[in-house]
Amino acid sequence: MESASYVHLRQLLDQGKISCVGLVQSHLQCIDNKKHLNAFLSVYADESLQRAAVVDQKIKAGTAGKLAGLVVGIKDLICYKDHPLQGGSKILDGFISQYNATAVQRLLDEDAIIIGRQNCDEFGMGSSNENSAFGPVLNDLDNNLVSGGSSGGSAVAIQADMCQVSLGTDTGGSVRQPAAFCGLAGLKPTYSRISRYGLAAYASSFDCIGVLSKHVEDIALVLEVIAGSDENDSTVSRKEVPLYSKEILSAPNKKYKIAYMRDTVESHALQPEIKSAIQKKIDQLKAVGHEVAAIDFPLNEYVLPTYYILATAEASSNLSRYDGVRYGYRSPNATDLTSLYKKTRSEAFGKEVQRRILLGTFVLSASYYNAYYTKAQQVRRLIRDQIKNIFKQYDFILMPTTPTTAFRLGEHSDNPVEMYLADLFSVQANVAGVPAISIPAGKDEKGLPIGLQVVADDFEESKLLRFSKEIIELT
Ligand code: GLN
Repeated sequence: MESASYVHLRQLLDQGKISCVGLVQSHLQCIDNKKHLNAFLSVYADESLQRAAVVDQKIKAGTAGKLAGLVVGIKDLICYKDHPLQGGSKILDGFISQYNATAVQRLLDEDAIIIGRQNCDEFGMGSSNENSAFGPVLNDLDNNLVSGGSSGGSAVAIQADMCQVSLGTDTGGSVRQPAAFCGLAGLKPTYSRISRYGLAAYASSFDCIGVLSKHVEDIALVLEVIAGSDENDSTVSRKEVPLYSKEILSAPNKKYKIAYMRDTVESHALQPEIKSAIQKKIDQLKAVGHEVAAIDFPLNEYVLPTYYILATAEASSNLSRYDGVRYGYRSPNATDLTSLYKKTRSEAFGKEVQRRILLGTFVLSASYYNAYYTKAQQVRRLIRDQIKNIFKQYDFILMPTTPTTAFRLGEHSDNPVEMYLADLFSVQANVAGVPAISIPAGKDEKGLPIGLQVVADDFEESKLLRFSKEIIELT
C-alpha cells in the first residue's frame, strides 16, 4: 500500500508539479509491462491521454472537477458509453454500451479518466477470476496464484499500479475478496447506496458497485461522487450522501463497541495465520480503548446456502435476456428459433454460468419454489433482522474476509462447492444488505496478504471508512 493516494497526488497536480498526462502515461506503462497478468480486456490509451490533456488545462484554469486526474479502471460489467462491455462472457461478443452507468457518468462529470475495461469472472460469478471467457487474471505477487474474484482484474490493476482506483461489483464478496487476496482496501457499500443503472445484472437484490484502492481516503472520495439518488434506478436510496472524504479526516477519538463472530474467527476452515492476524488486531483495538466482544451468530451456517439459492434464482432470470436475438453472440448452427436459443446459450455461456442458470431455474420451478426459493427468502429476512439486532448493541462486526489467503490457480476449479466456500464470510453482508470493507491486516507465512473485514450498519459508510483508517494505522 505504498504508492501515493489520489488525495495527495491532487495537491501535486494543483501545484503544477505533476500532470494528468504524466500520470496516465505511467499507468499505461505499468499496463504494458504487465500484460501477462490479464487484468485489462480493453485499454483506452489514446483516449485517456487526450482526456488527460484536457483535464490538465482545466486544472490550470481552475475549473477542474473533484476527481481531476484520477485514473480509474472499470470492471467489465459496468457500462461506459461507446465502449465494449462483455461481462467476461462470450455471449456479449461485439456489444457496445449504449449509455454510461450512473456511477461512470458521475466519475466523468468530475473529470476522472477511465483507462480501461477490466477482466472479471463471467457475469460476476466466481471467486478466483478463472471463470472469465478471456482467461484468468494472475496475482501480481505470485503468478501461480489467483487474483480472487469476481473483480479480479479490478484488484490486480490496483495491485500493479495500472490505475489508482477501480470500480468493481460485489454481489457476494467480489470486491472484498480480491481486495483481500491482493492486499488492498475494497468497499461494498450499503445495498442501494450506489445506483445500479448501467451495471449488468447478476443477482439484482444483492448487486452493488464497489470501490477498490490502496487508500481508504480515495475510496471515500469516489463513493461521495458516485453514491446517491438516481432517477434511472428506482431501488437506489434517496438518503443524502455525506461528504465521506471530509468525515473520515476527523480524529479517531471515539471508543467503539465492536463484536466479532466467534464461529468465524474460530472456524476450522480458517487458515491459522488469518486467525492470529485478526486476534492481533483485536488485541490492538482493545489496547487503545475499544471494547471488543465475541458474539454467537447461530444463523451463520445458513448464510452461504441462502446466498447461493437466491443469487442463482435471480441470475437465471436476469440472464434470460441473453438469447442471441438482439445483440451479442448468435450461434451460426441454429436451424429454428428454439435451436437458436439453445445453441447460442450453450455455446456462449461458460460452464459455471450454465450451472447457476440450471440451479436457479430448479429452485424457481413450480415443485421446488416453496422448498427453496421461498424458504431462502424467509431465512434471508431472519439473517438481516439478526444482523440489525447486533448493530443495536455494537458499532461494528469484525471477521475475516476470506478463509484462506490467495490460492493456486486450478486449486478449486474442479469442485464448485469448494469454490463457493471461499465466499463463506463475504456473502453475509450482501445477504443482509449492510456495508462492509476489506482492509489489509498483515501477511501469512508465505508473505501473502490477509484481509480483515469490517461490517457496519446500513448507511454508516462514513463511520466504517474512518474506523478502517484507524485500524490500518494501528501498529
Ligand atoms: N463469489 C460469489 C459468487 O460467485 C460472489 C460473486 C460476486 O460478488 N459477484 O457468486
